[in-house]
Amino acid sequence: MRSLIWFRNDLRVDDNPALSNCCVISEEVIAVYFLTESQWEQHNDSKAKKSFWLRSLVCLEKELQKLNIPLLIIETENYDSIYASLLKLMQQYDCKSLYFNNEYPVNELKRDRYIYKSFKEIGFGVFNYHDQVIHPPGSLKTKAGGNFSVYSPFKRKWFEELREEQLALFDIPSPKNKVNIESSDVEKISKKFASKIDDLWPVGEEYIKSKVTDFLSTKGHLYKDDRNFPAIDGCSKISPYLNSGIVSPKWCILEAKKYNQNLLDEGDRGIVHWVSEILWREFYRHIIYNFPKVSMNRPFLDYTENLEWSKNIEHLQRWKDGKTGIPIVDAGIREMLNTGWMHNRLRMIVAMFLSKNLLIDWREGEKFFMEHLIDGDIASNNGGWQWSASTGTDAAPYFRIMNPETQSIKFDPQGEYIKKWIPELSQCPISEIHMPVDPLKYGYYQPIVDLKKSRKAAIEAFGNLRKD
Ligand SMILES: Cc1cc2nc3c(=O)[nH]c(=O)nc-3n(C[C@H](O)[C@H](O)[C@H](O)COP(=O)(O)OP(=O)(O)OC[C@H]3O[C@@H](n4cnc5c(N)ncnc54)[C@H](O)[C@@H]3O)c2cc1C
Repeated sequence: MRSLIWFRNDLRVDDNPALSNCCVISEEVIAVYFLTESQWEQHNDSKAKKSFWLRSLVCLEKELQKLNIPLLIIETENYDSIYASLLKLMQQYDCKSLYFNNEYPVNELKRDRYIYKSFKEIGFGVFNYHDQVIHPPGSLKTKAGGNFSVYSPFKRKWFEELREEQLALFDIPSPKNKVNIESSDVEKISKKFASKIDDLWPVGEEYIKSKVTDFLSTKGHLYKDDRNFPAIDGCSKISPYLNSGIVSPKWCILEAKKYNQNLLDEGDRGIVHWVSEILWREFYRHIIYNFPKVSMNRPFLDYTENLEWSKNIEHLQRWKDGKTGIPIVDAGIREMLNTGWMHNRLRMIVAMFLSKNLLIDWREGEKFFMEHLIDGDIASNNGGWQWSASTGTDAAPYFRIMNPETQSIKFDPQGEYIKKWIPELSQCPISEIHMPVDPLKYGYYQPIVDLKKSRKAAIEAFGNLRKD
């Protein structure tokens, strides 16, 4: 029997449930990936991320070749046109079944449900799996039978419900029978998407696995302390790889166990904390599935819809350009513009600054992040932005507003991170680096807002909202 496997955000051969199950049942397998440029535009996917996907597909094609599975790259407009393309492929190559791993944002769910139902009606086998999470979204319930909207009880339940077999890995399949179909020229297609930061983000399953192992064995135990200091290389930087599925979260969790005496929620405090961050990622996947409104541009807390956001275009532009005159904020934005990635502490600082001090709609920031991050992920990005803007699940209360200057003093005490990304301030003494007295002297910028006054204005604006 011949089957089709449809790759999406699961660009790997190891621990890939759809691929493994497909290969167990089928003698011959063909793989497909849809290149949907206009859909990507709609989702604000960054240039760096598109290039990362395509470069990863080059690696995937090589791995699939070893299994005698050709990889076809099909260019098609958007998700709506995928149905017809898939159907054509199934008929053209006489495939009896379709396999894929699930995605949870609303457009993807809609697409998959339609394909599932229609293909079943035609008589095809359709098999889908959860590979981005350990507990399928919707499967963890509160005592009252509802969905979790707060992380800590979610995490408790996650551990309570965990069964050993959920952490079993799917092996790389054995080679299938050869089929007389050529793979697409992935390398050539990939070149069209090249971005200027490609060298910073090597691709490949083996590369990222050794990076995770290296991180856990050398820095894992320090993670809880180091993870908040952007000048320290203290976190794993695996987010782009997890989000494109080059490595599975399950593989990462099992690897963490190895370096923590086979324990997950106790033992080494650094590694335990790292695992809990991977669970934050899973939490936001449950949120986006259980509360689809959040991936439809709506806040989790409905009453915050009535907030009167500022329309100050100049402020927004200065924030986007990393020219707000608040060094730590500008350093964070510039890190992202130059590398496609931003340290988590900085993501919180710049997001709170935009949504609180500038009182600009968090959706502007969410979109801008997606346009520039190599790890831009609908669920985590939305979760992070809504948390920062106090409009989301488990949100920071609106009156808890991070002061960027205080954050800078605490987490970048020597101003190393600031100096790295703001060369204008390289000669600025440490005593002033967090808020220069005369910034123009260095060719830097006057702050666009007063931190204290803008904080007060934000608290008032939120306080005036009616919750009923
Ligand atoms: C405003 C805002 C926007 C964000 N946008 C994204 C995004 O688009 N894509 C994205 O992957 N993460 C996002 N995050 C979460 C977090 O900042 C990144 O996952 C993390 O910085 C990635 O670096 P790392 O791989 O070194 O993480 P590590 O600290 O090494 O953590 C390991 C993994 O755990 C997960 N993780 C860590 N922190 C979080 C978190 N707060 N929420 C969800 N998952 C987490 C990530 O998958 C990460 O790769 C955002 C956070 C905020 C506050």
